[in-house]
Amino acid sequence: MRRVGDARGSPSLRPNFASNMKNTGAYDVAIVGGGLIGSSIAFELAAAKLHVIVLDRQAPGREASWAAAGMLSPAPDGPPTVQLVPLALESLALYPSFVARVEEESGQSTDFVGAAGLEIFYSARGEAERDAAIADHRQLGTAIEPITVEAARNIEKSISPNASAAAWFSDEARVDPRLLTDAVISAAQRRGVEMRSGVEVTSLLREGDRCTGVMANNEKIAARHIIVAAGCFSGGIGLGSETVARFAPTIPIRGQMIALRPSGFAMRHVVRSERGYLVPRRDGRIIAGTTLEDAGFEKRVTAAGMHKILEAALELIPALAEAAVVETWSGLRPGTPDQLPILGPSNIDGLLIATGHYRNGILLAPVTAKILHDCVLAGETPANAAIFSPLRFQQGNRHATSARD
Ligand SMILES: Cc1cc2nc3c(=O)[nH]c(=O)nc-3n(C[C@H](O)[C@H](O)[C@H](O)COP(=O)(O)OP(=O)(O)OC[C@H]3O[C@@H](n4cnc5c(N)ncnc54)[C@H](O)[C@@H]3O)c2cc1C
Repeated sequence: MRRVGDARGSPSLRPNFASNMKNTGAYDVAIVGGGLIGSSIAFELAAAKLHVIVLDRQAPGREASWAAAGMLSPAPDGPPTVQLVPLALESLALYPSFVARVEEESGQSTDFVGAAGLEIFYSARGEAERDAAIADHRQLGTAIEPITVEAARNIEKSISPNASAAAWFSDEARVDPRLLTDAVISAAQRRGVEMRSGVEVTSLLREGDRCTGVMANNEKIAARHIIVAAGCFSGGIGLGSETVARFAPTIPIRGQMIALRPSGFAMRHVVRSERGYLVPRRDGRIIAGTTLEDAGFEKRVTAAGMHKILEAALELIPALAEAAVVETWSGLRPGTPDQLPILGPSNIDGLLIATGHYRNGILLAPVTAKILHDCVLAGETPANAAIFSPLRFQQGNRHATSARD
C-alpha cells in the first residue's frame, strides 16, 4: 500500500498542490466509486504522482458504466441539458487523446470509433421535424446535416424504407463502455492507483469544517481530498448528521438494454429515432436501447421495457426481427434534479463531488477527469465547471439559479 510520503516522482511536478498540502491524510486522494467517472479521475490524478485510492463496494465498473450504450453524442436530450452542450463538445474533443493514452498504458482496446450517427424520422411531418431539430442543433454548435432517406439507406442498408426523413450527425463517435472502463481501471492501476473492491463507504469522516477521510467496512481511511463518484448511490453516503445528498441529490433512473446478434447483415453507425437507438459493437452485436424509468434502485428487466425497446428497434431496422437476443440488462443512471452533472468542490474543505452524469457519463468522462484534476491540483474550479457546482442545491445560493435557468 502506498502512502503519502513514499517518494514517488519529483515534488516539482506538483508545485500548487504541494504548497497547499498539510499532509493530514494517509492518501492524497480517496475516490468513492470505481465506475468510469471515478476511475478516469484516478487515472488523471495519478499522472501528477498523487497517491490515489479508489474504493468500490463491488468489482469496479459494474454499475451504470457497465450498462451504457456508449454513444458519444453532444446533442442535448431536451431543454434542461442544453447547458451541457459546451462541456459535451469539449469532452468529445478530448476523447481521441484520452482513449489513446488509456489504450497505450493498459494495452487494451476500447473499441473507440469516430463514426457519425444517423437520426431517422417516421411521422408524416418527418422533414419539418428534422429541419426544426437541425435549426436547434446548429445554434448549439453540434454538427448536423439533412440527408435524404435514400442516402441514409446507402449508409446503413437495412434502415426501414418507411422512414420519412433523415439527419446525419457528422461529429459523433462511439465506444464500448465495458472495454473502456476496464481499460481505464487497468491503466490507472499501472500508474500506481490502488483499486479496492468489496469496500463499501458508509460515511465520510469530518473534523470541524474539514472532510478527513471515509469510513469503509468499519475502517477509517484518511485522505487529504475525498471525491465522491459513486454514481446514483452518491447521495446516500453519510456526512455527519446528514448525507452527501446535501451536495449530490442523485436520483436513480433505470435504463433497460438488449444485445442482438443480427443474421445476414452488419451495422457500422449509430442509428436512432425519437423512440430508441441501435449501437453496433465490433463483434457484430447491436445494442438496442432504452427506457427512462423512475423505479428506485430496482434493476429489473421487465416485459414492458423489452417490448418498448424491440418495437423501436424493429421500426428502425425491420430485419432485426430475425436477430438472436444474446443479453438483456438494466442499469441505473445517476440523475439529478436539474439533469446536469455535479462537479467540483463542496463548501467542506477537502470534499469534492463528481457525479450526476445521468445519460452522458461515458461522453463526459474525459472532461470530468480533467476538471477534477484541476480542482485538486490548482485548488480552484475551472470556469467551464462553475455552473455544475455542488453548491447549487443549497437554498439561496446563486449557483442554484444559474444552473436551473
Ligand atoms: C442503459 C444506459 C445507457 C447509457 N448510455 C449512455 C451512452 O450511450 N452514452 C453516455 O455518455 N452515457 C450513457 N449512460 C450513462 C452513463 O452510463 C453514466 O452516466 C455513467 O456510467 C456514470 O458513471 P459513474 O462512474 O458516475 O457511475 P457508475 O458506473 O454507476 O459507478 C459508480 C460506482 O460506485 C460504486 N459505489 C456506489 N456506492 C458505493 C459506496 N457506498 N461505497 C463504495 N462504492 C460505491 C458502485 O459499485 C459503482 O462501481 C447510460 C446509462 C445507462 C444506464
